[in-house]
Amino acid sequence: MSQPLTTSLRGKRGLVVGIANDSSIAAGCARAFAAQGATLAATYLNEKALPHVRPVTDALGCELLLPCDVSVAGQLEAVFEKVRATWGRLDFLLHAIAFAPAADLHGRVVDCSAAGFGLAMDVSCHSFLRMARLAEPLMPDGGCLLTVTFYGSERVVANYNLMGPVKAALESAVRYTAAELGPKQIRAHAISPGPISTRAASGIAHFDALLVAEAAAAPEHQLVDIEDVGALAAFLVSDGARHITGTIIPVDSGQHLLA
Ligand code: NAD
Repeated sequence: MSQPLTTSLRGKRGLVVGIANDSSIAAGCARAFAAQGATLAATYLNEKALPHVRPVTDALGCELLLPCDVSVAGQLEAVFEKVRATWGRLDFLLHAIAFAPAADLHGRVVDCSAAGFGLAMDVSCHSFLRMARLAEPLMPDGGCLLTVTFYGSERVVANYNLMGPVKAALESAVRYTAAELGPKQIRAHAISPGPISTRAASGIAHFDALLVAEAAAAPEHQLVDIEDVGALAAFLVSDGARHITGTIIPVDSGQHLLA
């Protein structure tokens, strides 16, 4: 008789990129990964961010805590080299980062500068492809790559602006990654949470109004939190999800159902 598939992450090693503080979506995911028994590595943006990241990663017993600004040449590559040298392999990674210059983010999409658009795409989208490429040789027996998107990719959400097209590109990048790395049993997903108060979210104009509107409109009339996102992330990287790939999965109290 075959064994039931497990959602335990015991024996798995994961890299978490995107913890800014205790409220980050990446922090909620890291807690869920650790609760299922995963061994973790994490990154911090720079020295200014470190005091806010370290308490989160220390509490989870992260084995590696490495600097990583994806727009600084060589830093992302150095993270993967350290993972290779320390563990020799990687089972999953979470890409939970995004950035757009305020001047471009707060204006009309049609007015955004080429430089602002390029930087937002580089940090928020192309970095996922770079991580996939760097992870591939560390996943000889397969693995799972996660990123985080938002429904402003598909529909026009007031004030989401430039991040709409950027997240649309990220979702497409996930589908192509899943198709290209599928033969190696490397899976890819984008989790699409409803709005959550985080530092990045505070950069979106009138974000509080979006929270109020979401709570009023979503079928469950409840906001999601980072623990909800973490629970899904932990399942997706587990063996229980071994044949699920290439999806954009909403965690949004049903908001995606509405016209
Ligand atoms: P957050 O501010 O806690 O995390 C954003 C992270 O991006 C930070 O850790 C920051 O250091 C990192 N980052 C920015 N520029 C970087 C760079 N150049 N190199 C490396 N890291 C960089 O906010 P969050 O809401 O947890 O955001 C995580 C992800 O979730 C983002 O992709 C965001 O678009 C997405 N998301 C957020 C919401 C929400 O409502 N909060 C909803 C859907 C999707």
